[in-house]
Amino acid sequence: MSIQGIGVTELAAQFGTPFYVYDGDVLRRQYQDLRDRLDPALEMFYSLKANPNVAVCALFHSAGARAEVSSLVELRTALMAGVAPGDIIFLGPGKSRAELEACLDEGVYAVVCESFGELGVLDELARSRGITAPVMLRVNPSFAVKGSGLTMGGKARQFGIDELQLFDEPDLVKNFPGLRVLGVHAYMGTRILDPSVIAENARRIIDLAERLAERLDFPLEVVDVGGGLGVAYFPNESDLDPQAVADQLNPVIEQFRAAHPQARLLLELGRYLAGPGGTYVTRVRYVKTSMDERFAVTDGGTNHHMAAVGIGSFVKRNFPMELLNRAGGETGPWNVTGPLCTPNDTIGRNVELPELEPGDLVGVLRSGAYGPTASPVLFLSHGYPAEVLVDGGRARLVRRRDTVEDLLSPQILD
Ligand SMILES: *Cc1c(COP(=O)(O)O)cnc(C)c1O
Repeated sequence: MSIQGIGVTELAAQFGTPFYVYDGDVLRRQYQDLRDRLDPALEMFYSLKANPNVAVCALFHSAGARAEVSSLVELRTALMAGVAPGDIIFLGPGKSRAELEACLDEGVYAVVCESFGELGVLDELARSRGITAPVMLRVNPSFAVKGSGLTMGGKARQFGIDELQLFDEPDLVKNFPGLRVLGVHAYMGTRILDPSVIAENARRIIDLAERLAERLDFPLEVVDVGGGLGVAYFPNESDLDPQAVADQLNPVIEQFRAAHPQARLLLELGRYLAGPGGTYVTRVRYVKTSMDERFAVTDGGTNHHMAAVGIGSFVKRNFPMELLNRAGGETGPWNVTGPLCTPNDTIGRNVELPELEPGDLVGVLRSGAYGPTASPVLFLSHGYPAEVLVDGGRARLVRRRDTVEDLLSPQILD
């Protein structure tokens, strides 16, 4: 395997293993293929949660994406990557006062508020500064649209405010003079692979926003239709076709523009943008058999790639995996496991791979989203892996792996 002409073997020699490598061309293409087809009125926001590496964020920013952040460090990351404060939205159910203050200090486009309590805190902070804080109301809709890996609407959730509760507060805007309510946000779920579900979500969220703006009596300046666009990981799945997404969404966008010529319409994308361009590269340390099953024990595991444990309660489904350093011959089933002392540290179960040997490089493909950031990187004190970005035919380290010193220095003996 090579990325922009650079062999993964070379990368492993230069940066050591295990590491994540991101292909800048693939990341940019994911963004551009959709951007080119979508009605330009729909603004694309990159959700840093999927991959908070500052270089990845900067790449999407340079391609034209705005940023959706959910913590103080994600906010600082987006700013460091060059995203203008006015192109950033901040959401999350448990924002601290420090985070809300940073939103006001930096002048983000909007704080997406998720509870009445948070509205109260932000209102107080804004009034004490003699300003009004721009907010979107995150709604937990009464409806759900089927077809997502994780349904968010129609259920008791810590996210957003229940639709019915908001409709019960016609004086909400009056009650918070420190806030300027710009619009409505809803996020219906993740891993959506059906374009018609994406469009149906958007249509229903816009309809909800219109009804809420009328009920609470504020001018509708923005609707954030969430996102949750998926990528295919497993054999029975196929990737979203960006043209099909555009064909479904563009009529919804055009209708929105016709009804609200001044208003903004936002789409959030994490996994869709970051997922396909990343590979997790591990090196085989030992091969062994146990009860007739073959194991390749590698130097990286679920501590860096928890998602590769797979989904499915009966039959575990594997991420796509490949032997990267040589062609290899006939394939057979392998369990690919990591260095942790738990049987759950299995990143591939019965994966079809060529005969493996110590020193081989095994890659987990499509791993650019929810990799180390969503994994227990401190388990067994292995720390964060290295991250490498290949862009413009050049490979560069965009995060060094944690050192022993990084891991020990925060600890206090006495
Ligand atoms: C997690 C999350 C996203 C990103 O989700 P993806 O499925 O990675 O696109 C966007 N918006 C909200 C509110 C989220 O919680």
